[in-house]
Parts: sequence; structure tokens; C-alpha cells
Amino acid sequence: MTDWSEKYEMVVGLEVHVQLKTRSKAFCGCSADFGAPPNVNTCPVCLALPGALPAINAEAVRLAVRAAIALECTINLTSVFARKNYFYPDLPKGYQISQFDQPLAVKGTLHARIPGETATRAIAITRLHMEEDAGKSVHDRYPRMTAIDLNRAGVPLVEIVSEPDMRSAAEAGAYLRTLKQILEYADVSDVSMEEGSLRVDANVSARLHGVTELGTKTEVKNVNSFSAVERSLQSEFDRQCAMLDRGETVRQETMLWDAAHGTVRPARSKEESHDYRYFPDPDLPPLILDPDYVKRLRHSLPELPQQLRERFVTHFSLGDAELDAVTAEPRLAEYFEGVARAHGDAKHAAKWVMGELAAALNETGVKIGNFPVRAPQLAELLDMIRDGKLSHTAAKAVFATMRVSGKSAPVVAAEMSVTQVGDDSQIEQWIAEVFVELPDETARFRAGEKKLTGVLVGAVMKKSKGRADPKKVNALLGKYSS
Ligand SMILES: [Zn+2]
Repeated sequence: MTDWSEKYEMVVGLEVHVQLKTRSKAFCGCSADFGAPPNVNTCPVCLALPGALPAINAEAVRLAVRAAIALECTINLTSVFARKNYFYPDLPKGYQISQFDQPLAVKGTLHARIPGETATRAIAITRLHMEEDAGKSVHDRYPRMTAIDLNRAGVPLVEIVSEPDMRSAAEAGAYLRTLKQILEYADVSDVSMEEGSLRVDANVSARLHGVTELGTKTEVKNVNSFSAVERSLQSEFDRQCAMLDRGETVRQETMLWDAAHGTVRPARSKEESHDYRYFPDPDLPPLILDPDYVKRLRHSLPELPQQLRERFVTHFSLGDAELDAVTAEPRLAEYFEGVARAHGDAKHAAKWVMGELAAALNETGVKIGNFPVRAPQLAELLDMIRDGKLSHTAAKAVFATMRVSGKSAPVVAAEMSVTQVGDDSQIEQWIAEVFVELPDETARFRAGEKKLTGVLVGAVMKKSKGRADPKKVNALLGKYSS
């Protein structure tokens, strides 16, 4: 495979559709829930029956404005809903309500985080506008027939369009992961690619290094994970470079990502260039926002990932890899902070959150919000390790039981009889017994043979069934050696 990056530069812009987390649809009262039986969540408005009138969902507006603020956009206090006309079986009205020349928000910035790097890359956001989703064509339910499910028709979306500012598949991946994280922190969407609440279309072109004008772009669709976006961009870039290198012209067309074969192929659509005949929707008045309302939303926005990282650096002195892990999602960050504050040693807390906790979440598929060991309980376990009451190995076993029983660390440790013994008189007692059992070694040790320390510590540990604090044993033995 030729590496084209020496000669050509990749240019990527992304269009991301995000479903807003509302209970009802954008322009009617139907439920916006995912997973209901087909066509249950429909009414005259979203079925486009004659005479039905749409009315904007205030919660959808609130979430869209929140998303725009989180992405540092300028909010247009007046925006206009427009009809985007096209025919498709899953679009009952024959048009989609969207926004065109007067979108809700423009000119944002996203600071894309490349994992493990401290510096971020600023990527410009062209616009963020509101629109409604279409329904779904179902091809696999009946033989030789396509069915239509309109549950999703009219569900509120925002479309977030970036400038063509990304120069590699990895940068595009970083943009998407950061975007997802910001929207999750701003609490505006479930951002689940599996459930279709976050969808990505990528525009990609290639040009010789040093050339400033953009090459002809193609649009890659049908991609269902961030890593697939990265792979599809690379594959499409390679295809375009090979064409350019042969002196051919890249055609502007839509490409579909074929995950099974790891390749892109042209969409079998007859018409490529749509004329959507946009015009303002006569059924909906312009959306006019009160500046005070926008201000209130700005102030009510929770801490976003970048601010949280900065605070964690100041308070907890964490490194980039630790920050990436503990701030990955808002609930986890909250959990980590709870452990770090209650326990006091943030590094130790981060180590456990990234190690034992991450492994447990991974293994069980439980979300952190439902994890049975809560932050104060994990902190209590870490306290016991710090205070010499549990060895690291014993703590792991205690944690495994806590996950199942929900009991506290001291209770579980007592039940399992694994509490480490740091009590001097008990350890002295074991040492005395070991001296009697191993007279030769003891005599040589007393005479100054330091290398026998290990043997005696080992014997005490064995006698205590692993519960003696080895540091204490070492210290106490020391005074018998001349
Ligand atoms: Zn409806």
C-alpha cells in the first residue's frame, strides 16, 4: 500500500447530526423514545396529515442553545426554520424542517484533544442548526417489501458542521471524540452511535502539499463508529490520491463505507446534486431568543471537559494519561473526584479508577452510575491500604467481594480475615514462635548474617497466613540482629 501522505495532504470537514435528549419530538407531542414498536410514536403532525400544524418544542431549543454555547458558537437571536424539499419514502411531508440561511448558531470552535497530548488543536465550527429527523425504511422485516417506521420522524436534531480544518484521519477522530465528550458533559444528547443519536458524514479531499485551493471532495456516509470514520477517511484518501497520481479527476460523489470489506464504494444514487428549493416554513414563525434567556443558559452550563481538566491539574496534579482516563465521561469524573477528595491521595485514586474500577466496569458492562461500590466506599478501601490494614493483593480481593455484596471495605475485610496485622505485640508473638522453630537460622541472624532476614520475614508471613504487615515485621526483626 502506497503511503500518499508524503506527497498529498488530506483535508477533512465533518457534518455531525446529534439527537437532542428531549422527551417529545421537535414539532409535536409524540414521544421521542428509542425502541418503541414501529409507528407507535406518531400523530397527525409527524405523519404530515393535511391541516396539521407544527409547534416548536421549547426543550429542544434549550438543548440546541446549550450545545451551541458549549461549542463556543455565536448565537443568532433570530433564526428561521426552512423547508428542505426532497422526496424520500421515509419523509412523509416531502420536506424536512431544517434551518438554512439563518441558522441558530455560527462560528464556534472545538479544541480537539489528541489523547496523551497536552496541547489541543482548534477546529472551526461553521454552524450549528436545528432540524428534524426523518423516519426509517426497514428492509429486513418482510420478504420483498420495504416497511416504513415513522417513530423517528420529527425527532429533534442539531447538525454541527465544521470547517475543512482537519488534516488527517486521526485529527478527525480526535474532533469526533472531543465533540461527543463535550455534548455528553453539556447533557444535551445520549450521543450513542449504536442507537443513531450521533451520526457522522465526512467530506474529504486530497491536494498536493503546498497547494492552497481545495481539491474536489467526496462525502463518506454510512459509518457507524469513530474508528470506522478514521478507516473510511484513510481508504477514501488513498483512492483519491491514486486517481490524482494517474492524472484522473476525482468526481464529487457520495461514497458508502463498507465495513465488512474495509473499503468505500460509490452510492448507487442517480442524482447527486440536489436542489432542495429551501424557503422559510410558513407554518413556523422565526425563532426569536431573549438575550437574558441565552445568558441564563450560558451561566447554567456545567463544567466542560477542558475546564474540568484544568481544575484537576491544579487540585490533583494529574498527568495527561490520568486526565484522559478520569475525565472520559462526566459520571466517571464525578466518581473519581469523590474518591480523591474522601481519600486524599488523588494519584492513588486515579490508579484505582483506571485499574481495578475500569476493569470491573469493562467486565460487567455496568455503567459507573449503577456501580455498587460508590465513591466513599472505594475511598474507605484505599484508606485501609494506606494505613497498612490491607495489602494490595488483599485489597483487590476485598474489592471483588464489595462489587457483589455492596458491603463496606472494613466489613468485607473482617469477614474474609484478610485485615493486615500491624499490631506490634501480635507480630512480636509470631517472631518469638519463629525463633523457636528455626533455631539455627535465628542464631546466625542474631550473629549478624543479614541475608537470613528474608527467611525469617517469610516464616513470620507464613505463620500469620499473609496478614502480618511485612514492613513492620522487618522493622521489629531488625533489633535482634547485632
Ligand atoms: Zn407526532
